[in-house]
Amino acid sequence: MDVVNRYITINNHVNGAPQDSDFELKASPLALSLDPASNVVIVKNLYVSIDPYQLNRMKSFSASQKTSDFAVAIVPGEVVASTNPEFDKGDIVVGLLNWGEFTVIKAGGMLNKLNTMGFPLSYHVGILGFSGLTAYAGLFDICKPKKGEKVFVSAALGSVGNLVGQFAKLSGCYVVGCAGSKEKVALLKEKLGFDDAFNYREETDLNSTLKSYFPNGIDIYFDNVGGEMQEVAVSNMNINGRIAVCGVISEYLDSEKRAAPSMIEVIYKRIKIQGFLAGDYLNIFGDFLSTTCDHLRTGKIQPLEDISDGVESIPSAFISLYRGQNIGKKIVKIAEE
Ligand code: NAP
Repeated sequence: MDVVNRYITINNHVNGAPQDSDFELKASPLALSLDPASNVVIVKNLYVSIDPYQLNRMKSFSASQKTSDFAVAIVPGEVVASTNPEFDKGDIVVGLLNWGEFTVIKAGGMLNKLNTMGFPLSYHVGILGFSGLTAYAGLFDICKPKKGEKVFVSAALGSVGNLVGQFAKLSGCYVVGCAGSKEKVALLKEKLGFDDAFNYREETDLNSTLKSYFPNGIDIYFDNVGGEMQEVAVSNMNINGRIAVCGVISEYLDSEKRAAPSMIEVIYKRIKIQGFLAGDYLNIFGDFLSTTCDHLRTGKIQPLEDISDGVESIPSAFISLYRGQNIGKKIVKIAEE
């Protein structure tokens, strides 16, 4: 049997802000009857994770291309044809899947059976997937929060940021987030339990803003944005402060833009600044999963998802990240489970 596989491609390198015209929806026939010797699995993609870092892969050059071989998002799907003895038709799997309706995975491709543990499949793209692991690893392994410490999170209502704040609150910290709209600020305080939050787009002097939210200084900064926010955060850090550099989204659109935090502050305040990649923390995935599942079951953390429908909505979903239009984890639902 043949199906039509619709998928998204890029038309060119994307070196600035992504636009609709950079992407194209294509369609091609896909045979679901496989040669028994082929050792191939065909997966019907169910949910696709939409992540800012994918832009760095679309550029003509980015330092990330030399250091990370993650090609596409790790997302769940359902096996529709398989000649690989490890997978049967109907298995729910998670793997490196395309921005399309189907993915053909040859021997050696990354694919695992997924135990949903009773949670919705979409959670395994976000809160119980890589976004969650990123928040957990960056906060607990790098920043090591202690009760009563003051934590600042940027892009705080995003996929990673909202979880960092929620985990930090559960550790007994005082947590302030920043985000790009009034609506987001209200959600941070009213729905997610942040102690305070502000809209960075309305602030004219970010250094004074941080001083007013942290009169006694910042102990932990979880950096999702880089740029000027990183510079002023460093200026407001306490002695022995920790900064997890998770992402620098404000610099992704402009390769000339660089944060220049004061290294004198870093030295005299003995600040630890560490970049990290969630992929390096697969060894703690089990701990992360059991802790996060417990918190979800007891209602101590809230999932925050922003789901669009259909493969054709992938480009606009991706573009929305760069316009701050997503509320929580941006996901595209490709097909019914
Ligand atoms: P996200 O926060 O869900 O979405 C991106 C958000 O970034 C937008 O909603 C927007 O929110 C903010 N933003 C966009 N352009 C901005 C700009 N110029 N300046 C300041 N904020 C801007 O995305 P995410 O998946 O959670 O990722 C957050 C960061 O972590 C990204 O930098 C990403 O690359 C990084 N990341 C790193 C790893 C790792 O392994 N190190 C893994 C996953 C993600 P506002 O309304 O607040 O502007």
